[in-house]
Amino acid sequence: MTSGELSLPDLVEFYARRIEAEPSLNAFLDVYAEEAIDRARQVQEKWRSGEAAPLAGAVLAIKDNIAIQGKKLTCASRILADFVSPYNATVIERLLAADAIILGKTNMDEFAMGSSNENSAVAPVHHPHDPERVPGGSSGGSAVAVAADLCTAALGSDTGGSIRQPAAFCGVVGLKPTYGRVSRFGLVAFASSLDQIGPFGRNVEDVARLLNVISGHDPMDSTSAPDPVPDFTQNLHTPPESLTIGLPVEYLSDEVQPEIVQAIETAKSLFADAGYSVREVHLPMTEYCIAAYYIICTAEASSNLARYDGARYGYRAAGAQDLEEMYRRTRSEGFGKEVKRRIMLGTYVLSAGYYDAYYRRALKVRTLIRRDFNQVFEACDVLLTPTTPTTAFRMGEKVQDPVSMYLSDIFTVSANLAGIPAISVPAGTDAQGLPIGVQLLGRPFDEATLLRTAAFLESHLK
Ligand code: GLN
Repeated sequence: MTSGELSLPDLVEFYARRIEAEPSLNAFLDVYAEEAIDRARQVQEKWRSGEAAPLAGAVLAIKDNIAIQGKKLTCASRILADFVSPYNATVIERLLAADAIILGKTNMDEFAMGSSNENSAVAPVHHPHDPERVPGGSSGGSAVAVAADLCTAALGSDTGGSIRQPAAFCGVVGLKPTYGRVSRFGLVAFASSLDQIGPFGRNVEDVARLLNVISGHDPMDSTSAPDPVPDFTQNLHTPPESLTIGLPVEYLSDEVQPEIVQAIETAKSLFADAGYSVREVHLPMTEYCIAAYYIICTAEASSNLARYDGARYGYRAAGAQDLEEMYRRTRSEGFGKEVKRRIMLGTYVLSAGYYDAYYRRALKVRTLIRRDFNQVFEACDVLLTPTTPTTAFRMGEKVQDPVSMYLSDIFTVSANLAGIPAISVPAGTDAQGLPIGVQLLGRPFDEATLLRTAAFLESHLK
């Protein structure tokens, strides 16, 4: 585009045609092709007159739990099937101000609950390299859109791994920022103390560019942090002079697929060969992460999803005789199985008599998990782990067994519980050609070091 060989409207059209050519992936729920082409013309004008903002040229896909004014915001749920957002999420305002083009909304697990994208009320998303396999979840549509070349980059949300796990399965880069780094205003709440919006890209640099734009304090989100936002692209390709990389031994159990363990070994030697110090560390609370996560996230979800009552917005069941019946039928018909399971679990762990045994105890465990990370980050700059225990699994494989589905998040939920930033970087493929992801975790608000380390790994793995 810089040399004038390709125009920006042509690029948008190329992606729109790619989306049409790949309908069976089910990656998109809504595509704004015409509008995006019009906007591409305007951005190109600005560009030619040298006035374009930093994301001019980027054609983006947005997970359908992020609000865009005048567009459907469905969370891939029946209960919001016809809901149109009256306002923009802060991240959308920032992307538009940076001259990004928004091409459409991506499919997801209903209300971002899932690890396989089989919980979408619309249709499951398929893996780009093997239609029999899952792309990961819950931001599977965004991961596939980037991996299958249906857009330049994308936004997803990550509550327990929903950016990093699908990024790993699909062979792209995905970042969960520090809690508070990116405004959640206009992100439909799942578990508010864990949710963060973050970018997907085909490389670390694209992810850094997007993070530059979406980060920063927002008065509309009381949990957004006042910390200054550095330019994450600065020095991105200059490897840090010295680094201490920690390898949490708890993350390399026998249950990890051997090729993924091999990928960690490879990354480890690349770091060591570059002169970085690599050492084993311990995160003893690791075995409690999944339990704590699925208590806290369901508790918060049961509270957040109480607002879908058929009275204020969204779907309302017809023909009810009284208010209670209207609530009951609306929620029975509007929510899918997994969402109902989470609401019931969350209501249970918060109920009088169980609150202390489950919810309060999970919060205490969360504090201990944080403490584990604080301790290792006294000596280490970055931690290296697998993103997932296996590569992309088969569709249907875990549908009947929610616990085995929940266990696929075993390496990702800790970053959300601790609030720290984490990124998944592609690291080759397994014997069946399925992508492998390695995860790097960083200190709170030190995405700069995390991204530089990821860029080092990316360039050396190539
Ligand atoms: N797979 C996890 C869950 O089902 C994480 C989801 C997410 O990060 N949104 O809760």
